[in-house]
Amino acid sequence: MRMTSTVVGALACQLDSYLTTFDTTVVSCRAVQVAAPATATKSGKKGKTGGAKEAEAPAVAPTVSAATEYELELQDTILFPEGGGQPSDHGIIATDSGSLPVLAIRRAVLTALHKVATPLAPETKVTLTVDWKRRFDHMQQHSGQHLISAILDTMEIPTLAWNLGEKVSYVEIARKLSDAEVQIVEDRCNDVIRQGVDIWVEVPDKDLVKKDKLPDDYDAERGILRVVHIGNLDSNPCCGTHLKNTKEMNAISLLHQVPIRGTNSRLYFLIGDRVRAYTKELHALTRSLNAKLSCQTEEIEPKISRLETQLKETVKREKQWTTEVAQTEATRVRAELTERKKSLVYRAELTGLDYFNLFMNELGKLEPGAGVIVMASGAPKTAGALVVIGDAADVVAGNIRDAGIISTLKGGGKGAKWQGKVALWEKGEPEALTAFFETL
Ligand SMILES: [Zn+2]
Repeated sequence: MRMTSTVVGALACQLDSYLTTFDTTVVSCRAVQVAAPATATKSGKKGKTGGAKEAEAPAVAPTVSAATEYELELQDTILFPEGGGQPSDHGIIATDSGSLPVLAIRRAVLTALHKVATPLAPETKVTLTVDWKRRFDHMQQHSGQHLISAILDTMEIPTLAWNLGEKVSYVEIARKLSDAEVQIVEDRCNDVIRQGVDIWVEVPDKDLVKKDKLPDDYDAERGILRVVHIGNLDSNPCCGTHLKNTKEMNAISLLHQVPIRGTNSRLYFLIGDRVRAYTKELHALTRSLNAKLSCQTEEIEPKISRLETQLKETVKREKQWTTEVAQTEATRVRAELTERKKSLVYRAELTGLDYFNLFMNELGKLEPGAGVIVMASGAPKTAGALVVIGDAADVVAGNIRDAGIISTLKGGGKGAKWQGKVALWEKGEPEALTAFFETL
């Protein structure tokens, strides 16, 4: 007779969310194809590995290869499948012959399926271990979200959605809270944490549970409907794993809000160990800013404002100076053209084209027969640019390129203007360009 597995709603992790290891048995193992990239090669017939007698890959197009993963159904589990806004657990499935990491568990109607890389035969005895640090963090965020939403409910602000993020989480509410309201919610949440209010799960008569919050694909008839209580403050249908007492939340810190979907607002929060982790991270950042800016924390903001003002002034001044240099250089180049019909403008300290555009603006139109101007920016180990204008500019640039004077030169143009980029100047190349220019 085929073994059966426990339905999602009554999993061991849902009955006792504090179990960290658990012995159970494999009920079934099914191969699943993971979509392969378009470059996949033809797949041959792969021999079945292990003893997974039930493992049969669904039919796939013979020309498409796909990686195979396996979904294990276990008699019961302490690895929570994704649900109720709570992400899937991580864990280990150990057998006599080794252990397999589990990084995803999903709910298929009422069954929890554990994704693994290697098949296990039905009836294999296994020991599960949950990644407790990750799970306890999820319990803190999830129970804490219930508490935040309960306090918001007392202010007639219903929670429309929530998200448990990698670093920060949020509740979505119908309007933005004022700063004073955020403070009130945070204070009241932390009051409840200090009071040490019990949290427990009840499985009431199905008719008494509101079904509107159930996922569409949950079988309410055969499944288990759970209600999570926080003292007499809150009762909420939920499948998640929860703390036993609000004390375990340690602290709730409400952060910023972000507008979403018109007038809705996402209120971001941190709970429990995340508050400490964030404090450490911010403190390290502050210390680094103290060192970089050589100032105390309260001086960081005024100091950055002063630096911004200084930068604006510097940029303005640089523009004035650059324009003056371009004017002077244009005058010099004009004189040189009259004398030699050629001129070289080389700027080792620059890497782009901006200055040359300014220079050409100051130079004005170059009449045919006036000569050729070679402009280059950049120095060895930096990027740069090359612009050639004037008589037979394209031929001159073509000669520079064909002679391999600048090995990483790329560009184009025809007639009186050619421009290109130098990915990286090599040692000796600026000198080689100058020498080439003299031969023109
Ligand atoms: Zn919940």
